Amino acid sequence: MKIINLQDKNLFFIGGVVRDELLGKESFDVDLTYVGNAIEYAKTIPDVQIVQINEPFGTVRIKLNDEEIDIASTRVETYPQKGHLPCVCGIGCPLKDDIMRRDFTVNALAKSTLTGEIVDYTGGLDDIKNKILRVLHDKSFVDDPTRIVRALKFSIRFGFELDENTKKLQDEYLKNINYDMSYKRLKKELVETFNLNSQAAFEKFINEGIYKLVSAKSFELPKVNFEHLIREFNPENIWIIYVGLLPDISALPLTKVEKKIVDDFNKLKNNKSFDSDFEICKAFEGLNLETIIMYCSINKDIVEKYLHKLRYIKIETTGKDLVEMGINPSSKYQQCFDFILEHKLKNPELNKVQEVELAKRFFGII
Ligand code: ATP
Repeated sequence: MKIINLQDKNLFFIGGVVRDELLGKESFDVDLTYVGNAIEYAKTIPDVQIVQINEPFGTVRIKLNDEEIDIASTRVETYPQKGHLPCVCGIGCPLKDDIMRRDFTVNALAKSTLTGEIVDYTGGLDDIKNKILRVLHDKSFVDDPTRIVRALKFSIRFGFELDENTKKLQDEYLKNINYDMSYKRLKKELVETFNLNSQAAFEKFINEGIYKLVSAKSFELPKVNFEHLIREFNPENIWIIYVGLLPDISALPLTKVEKKIVDDFNKLKNNKSFDSDFEICKAFEGLNLETIIMYCSINKDIVEKYLHKLRYIKIETTGKDLVEMGINPSSKYQQCFDFILEHKLKNPELNKVQEVELAKRFFGII
């Protein structure tokens, strides 16, 4: 655990950081909670610089010895609108009430900054030992269905399994989904889960029906191991390859690039056969690598041929060469380049001189 030079009887490490320490894993962010008003507490710390205050949430960012640290006040959260952001109330509540708003017992542990003692109100220590994900109450997924995706993420990261009742609650929720939910939060969890690049996560996502949170349309698991393909071709945007395969993800807020990847895939999907290498190259021209990998769900052989071989076959002839031949620029240029490419795909050994000959033939110069 990151060393924090702050000790107070009311100040606790909380959530993922305590879980990670018990699992012997490195934690990237350290969550601290203060039983009481964290903002008032922060002002009393010697040599502190207050960087940012969020009064309604009772959180504060401080700088101490060149290090920025976030401290939250204990708080209660309620879900008046199920599936949306919770309402914050009861700032400065007892530690137990802050613990009870959390998602799983393994994320509901606190550790005193003063004594190092672990506070476990929900049985999180045993669940960590037994690798179990357990919700804190039966309405947990109704309040916040993104927790279903969080459970998937933790099951993959730590090899944890849902306890029997939690699995039953998940199944019940997935049979009766309230689609009026925060898709921004859902997307954040999907991104974190699928950027782990795990075929096992994808299989659970589909086979357990978790994908129905995104879209009610049914979907079958493609017979392709995307984890291997992603490792082999190393695309930038991993999550969209998995989630973008679903028939309709229009509910998720996508970036421009993500939308292009998915729209291109949906257009390409109907193209199930190609008559030549040239047709393959033209179909994949201008597409993101992610879209091309997604197309493996339709025709893996074509994609492998393109990514291993065809995409490296490039013509050397340029517009400048055609100008030098006395041809005025026009749409015929592209047709000429395609004509050369079509030949070069059949005979990749073609050199520049032979390409120029082909260009001349195309324009009827020889
Ligand atoms: P990591 O950051 O390693 O992915 P984490 O558990 O720290 O894991 P965060 O998303 O940073 O995950 O959340 C910090 C803590 O806040 C969690 O450990 C959990 O106690 C609580 N939490 C986060 N999201 C939810 C949620 N949707 N519902 C209830 N509690 C949550």
